[in-house]
Amino acid sequence: MGEKTKKKVKTIKVDVDKCNGCRACEMICSAFHSVPKYSGNNPARSRIRVIREPLKDIYVPVYAGENAKAECMGRDKYVIDGKEYEECAFCRASCPSRDIFKEPDSGLPLKCDMCESDPTLEKPLCVQWCMVDALTYEEREEEVEEDVKLDDVETGLDSLVAKHGLQKVLDTFARMSQKGAEQPGEK
Ligand code: SF4
Ligand code: SF4
Repeated sequence: MGEKTKKKVKTIKVDVDKCNGCRACEMICSAFHSVPKYSGNNPARSRIRVIREPLKDIYVPVYAGENAKAECMGRDKYVIDGKEYEECAFCRASCPSRDIFKEPDSGLPLKCDMCESDPTLEKPLCVQWCMVDALTYEEREEEVEEDVKLDDVETGLDSLVAKHGLQKVLDTFARMSQKGAEQPGEK
């Protein structure tokens, strides 16, 4: 448990009533996160996915949240039929994001990082590219517990450890390093 500090919390409010399912948000997110940046665009790598509810003909943009096992870390606000729901009223246990946010090649979890970059963007790109204002960027100050921030690699490792156990992951790394050291020409 960390100490409590004042922190700027970045959130994106999702107005489901305005979303028309154009998927521009998916395109720009995956392009921004491709390596090198903007070298490709595959919505399967996007940290936002637009889910269509066919019976009601509505589109619901869903963000890749923390891959928390026991506690919901969702901070998204949703507006549905004009009513605003605070702090992601969708429970992540049943939230479709759990299955759809996987890196297609490695199967490792994807997470929205609010388009972190240097220099910092004025607004996240999915918000900038949403032409109908279904996504609105909001900042607020909040007292939060100081958390250790995980980058993409740490998030992936965290999920491997949760799935296979620390020992198995360590053994696999040891085996891989051994193999790497034995590769001819490797320095
Ligand atoms: S860009 Fe906006 S309108 Fe288009 S799918 Fe995404 S949230 Fe919906
Ligand atoms: S805020 Fe950035 S990282 Fe998060 S879903 Fe939008 S474009 Fe992707």
